[in-house]
Amino acid sequence: MAVKIAVTGFGGRMGRALAAAVVQSGQAELSAAVVRRGSSLVGADAGEVAGLGRNGLAIVDDLGQADFDVLIDFTAPDATRDNADFCARKGRPIVIGTTGFDERQKSAVLAQAERVPLCLASNFSTGVNLCFNLLETAARVLGDESDIEIVEAHHRHKVDAPSGTALSMGEVVADTLGRDLSQVAVYGREGQTGARERDTIGFATVRGGDVVGEHTVMFMAEGERVEITHKASSRLSFARGAVRAALWLVAEGRTPGHYDMRDVLGLKN
Ligand code: NAD
Repeated sequence: MAVKIAVTGFGGRMGRALAAAVVQSGQAELSAAVVRRGSSLVGADAGEVAGLGRNGLAIVDDLGQADFDVLIDFTAPDATRDNADFCARKGRPIVIGTTGFDERQKSAVLAQAERVPLCLASNFSTGVNLCFNLLETAARVLGDESDIEIVEAHHRHKVDAPSGTALSMGEVVADTLGRDLSQVAVYGREGQTGARERDTIGFATVRGGDVVGEHTVMFMAEGERVEITHKASSRLSFARGAVRAALWLVAEGRTPGHYDMRDVLGLKN
């Protein structure tokens, strides 16, 4: 029987891509499409809004009206906190793609992993998660003898910076090198900055146009430089990964806990 997936933030860019990915999976059905309270989309046909043709599913603005086995949430930090709390109370697993959490919001969300399976990832694409493994290798081999900088670019509508993916890449590199990212991160430079300190990890952010998401991590040593780059050209890469994670979370025997996309892909060492 098809797994029933609810999508919150349905009116957003990722909400629509998720609708397409659910249909394409062939193993799941979109059982609820949830938008912000009072949205003009309430009552509209979800398939039509997602550009997939009518599917007879009316959009709602209350998760309490939704019937689902697993929720996929790509919204905003406060909305995600409420939705994770709802899932924990109902005993339903949740996939979270939202980025831009502060520490307090993140720990409130992760606390729900004690009650239900929860998969949180700053990036659900297969390629980026593979890059996390490549970054561990590069950091191990080159990290102590190179300057490490992370450059990311996204469309003009993105509201948080640097991207959650760039921060995750920084964390992977810092953890591998035994550094604390909160101590070594440098977010942008201006004016008389002084010479670069070796142990720092620099971030630079580009915003504009319709760029879906690009990340490059540079390992710059004397005489050579290695760059690991990922370019997303379609939101479907994230949406397909999130649906894969949703199906993985509802698999028999999955226990409550905090998972990420590397668990789903079997990429953990
Ligand atoms: P968007 O602005 O197009 O859509 C966000 C949706 O969430 C909107 O429909 C909005 O109405 C809804 N929303 C926001 N606040 C809400 C609230 N308080 N209550 C109810 N609904 C609310 O953004 P998007 O491009 O679809 O991205 C959504 C989130 O997903 C962002 O945090 C983005 O960074 C993240 N994202 C993650 C990945 C990943 O792979 N993890 C990929 C792309 C985007």
